[in-house]
Amino acid sequence: MTRVDLHTHTTASDGTDSPRELVAKAAAAGLDVVAVTDHDTTAGWAEALAARPARLTVVPGVEFSCVRHEPDGRSVSLHLLAYLVDPDDPAIRAEWERLRESRRVRGRTMVERLERDGYPISWADVSALAGGGSVGRPHIGRALVAAGVVPDVDTAFRNLLSSRRPYYVRKADTDVFDALRLVRDAGGVAVFAHPMARRRGPVVSDETVAAMAEAGLAGIEVAHPDHDPDDRAHARELADELGLIPTGASDYHGANKTTRLGQHTTDPDAYARLFDRPTALRPVGG
Ligand code: AMP
Ligand code: FE
Ligand code: FE
Ligand code: ZN
Repeated sequence: MTRVDLHTHTTASDGTDSPRELVAKAAAAGLDVVAVTDHDTTAGWAEALAARPARLTVVPGVEFSCVRHEPDGRSVSLHLLAYLVDPDDPAIRAEWERLRESRRVRGRTMVERLERDGYPISWADVSALAGGGSVGRPHIGRALVAAGVVPDVDTAFRNLLSSRRPYYVRKADTDVFDALRLVRDAGGVAVFAHPMARRRGPVVSDETVAAMAEAGLAGIEVAHPDHDPDDRAHARELADELGLIPTGASDYHGANKTTRLGQHTTDPDAYARLFDRPTALRPVGG
């Protein structure tokens, strides 16, 4: 039985395992395939590929921060998993660089708002925790844990860092239809990550998912830690209706989250179909 986990994070963004540690743990967890999908960066790819244990296949990917301006006026943030894109494509590289800069500015602003209300953290702490990788709220969460403000990152997310609190600042994310075009033009494959993760904030309409499918979306995450059984059923229905390939993944973040590598996996047949098309790169190994 081939075990495939198509969504994980490393220290190149907001995971706590280095790319080297991640691939070692993936093999130790009995995975045959792992995708390395840090937020808005390919920075973890080289180390993950160089450290790849012989029996593990590594799929290079990026979790692309997007926004959908819904016709009803809501702006909904959403994530695309972009696999096997050409990392040297100038347009997508420039867009990811812009997003990483937006993450830095936004992180600094959130820290300033927290500091102003007396929370004893600093941008120096947070950027040190990010270590040059894509800055995210989990880094601010870890600074809050280190300062003794909250017991763990999850508590920070449920309170101070929630998108429903005044400390929250939006990033300047990429319009999802522009993102789908960028991924296609860079020779990649796009999958809609955790489409029904309502706990994190509003989600897009089914009509938007249909429009994304029209615009070249290839797959949709069905099994994900933030999906309850109803969410999974609904995502699977959309996959069937729209001809999208259903995937499953852990969205592993090391110690920043409680999900385990391989907690959810992708059916081997779906994995084969997802990458059965011309792409700029190929999965490495196996
Ligand atoms: P950001 O991209 O900076 O807005 O932060 C969102 C990131 O935080 C996503 O990558 C999530 O995986 C992560 N995240 C969301 N909820 C939690 C949580 N409860 N605990 C830890 N990390 C979380
Ligand atoms: Fe994350
Ligand atoms: Fe995500
Ligand atoms: Zn993720």
